[in-house]
Amino acid sequence: MAADDSGRGGGRQDGPGDRRGEPGQGGDAAGDERGMALALEQAMLAWQEGEVPVGAVLLDAGGVVIGRGRNRVIGDSDPTAHAEIVALREGARAAGNYRLPGATLYVTLEPCAMCVGAMLHARLARIVFGAADPKTGACGSVLDVGALRQLNHQTSIQGGVMAGPCGDLLRRFFRERRRKEASE
Ligand SMILES: [Zn+2]
Repeated sequence: MAADDSGRGGGRQDGPGDRRGEPGQGGDAAGDERGMALALEQAMLAWQEGEVPVGAVLLDAGGVVIGRGRNRVIGDSDPTAHAEIVALREGARAAGNYRLPGATLYVTLEPCAMCVGAMLHARLARIVFGAADPKTGACGSVLDVGALRQLNHQTSIQGGVMAGPCGDLLRRFFRERRRKEASE
């Protein structure tokens, strides 16, 4: 397979240093911002529940929300309860299918290797994320799973959509947590 013929088109991810990105390459900008705004709502709910604020939504090929997820690893005592996995489970149940071709997942933070793996198994058409994650990001920051051409399924991955508000939420959360810890 040639390097760039797999339908990834302009939807390839921006480099981790390119935080603003160009929403709309591979999707349409307004649609991507709408999807990310819904993911941000989920992230804010996670914060209210005392979890690191990461949120995700899953849209089917027609743009209908079929899954919502927010990080709940603490509440569920479950290391796999990342926002993306929670949204995927809900969406797959709603669709009655473990494969979701044509679906797009929006997540506020760059997915980790576990979540990218799960999304490839689900055969998603696109993954769109907000802020880069220099610690565990597997879409270009630490690993670049999407660049492995040996994988049998290729999903379009795009980063940097509303990266500012997505990253700000996390920074505010950690700042507040440090302040609380210092005052205890
Ligand atoms: Zn993850």
